[in-house]
Amino acid sequence: MKSNPFGQAGANVSVIGQGTWYLDHGDRKRAIAALQRGLDLGMTHIDTAEMYGDAELVIADAIAGRRDEVFLVSKVLPSNASRGGTITACERSLKRLKTDRLDCYLLHWRGSYPLEDTVAAFEDLAKAGKIKSWGVSNFDADDLDEMIDVAGEDRIACNQVLYHLRERTIEHAVIPWCEQHGVAVVAYSPFGHDDFPTSNSKGGSVLARIAEARRATPRQVALSFLTRATTVFAIPKASSAEHAGENAAAGDLVLTKDEIAALDAAFPRGPKPRGLPML
Ligand code: NAP
Repeated sequence: MKSNPFGQAGANVSVIGQGTWYLDHGDRKRAIAALQRGLDLGMTHIDTAEMYGDAELVIADAIAGRRDEVFLVSKVLPSNASRGGTITACERSLKRLKTDRLDCYLLHWRGSYPLEDTVAAFEDLAKAGKIKSWGVSNFDADDLDEMIDVAGEDRIACNQVLYHLRERTIEHAVIPWCEQHGVAVVAYSPFGHDDFPTSNSKGGSVLARIAEARRATPRQVALSFLTRATTVFAIPKASSAEHAGENAAAGDLVLTKDEIAALDAAFPRGPKPRGLPML
């Protein structure tokens, strides 16, 4: 566990958590078993969204009887993020998740409702005890500047953004901004969604070499690299208990300076693009 930058939630958040996008598309029992194995192994941070079909229902079954172990995060769609719409969306998610509170509630990406309205709803939800903290997703540094003008310091718990070995844009401005303001960075799609480097690619061979030397797997090495800064967390999605077990073990792997330098060279950050990439 890292020190907890999800400050206002007052909980320990596992560095490696569990994503749930498309988790409702396969075998439901297998998906529940994967989440439960993850929880057993300390991956207590579970990420979902109203957008993810029936994923919230799958989570409800997986966490039944063990809600207090979980740091539960869901997201409101921008099209619902008016002051009233955010509250209704949160209540819908709580019902689907069969819980009375979220540990963190995020604006999924920036839409057309004024940030003031969404923040007012988040603060109302927090006062009512329905959420313990709130944050944002897919916010670039200039969006974060605007958000902090609206909300003030120490209100934004996290910014959930795209981050994997071949997509390191957030290292240019988002991670430094978040470090400066005490906001956690949550790396989504840490395996590139479904495009993880194969061992016969140039970068993939470096990953494989380090993995072999450390008696780890390439995915564990990737997760360890992505979470090397203390502000960064990652939420890989796994639909089997075996995959969940592999991902959870990455939390114990600390790479050396040389290994980090080798990965940095194998998967170069590249120049800063104009916008923030998102899936
Ligand atoms: P991801 O976690 O990068 O990759 C998921 C893929 O990796 C799946 O095909 C999964 O296969 C495979 N996988 C996982 N663990 C594995 C292992 N140990 N060995 C081999 N394969 C493994 O992709 P993602 O789902 O896009 O991103 C993760 C989470 O981030 C999402 O589920 C969601 O919660 C969140 N997210 C947020 C946003 C946003 O806008 N805020 C956008 C995208 C994603 P199996 O399913 O077969 O295990």
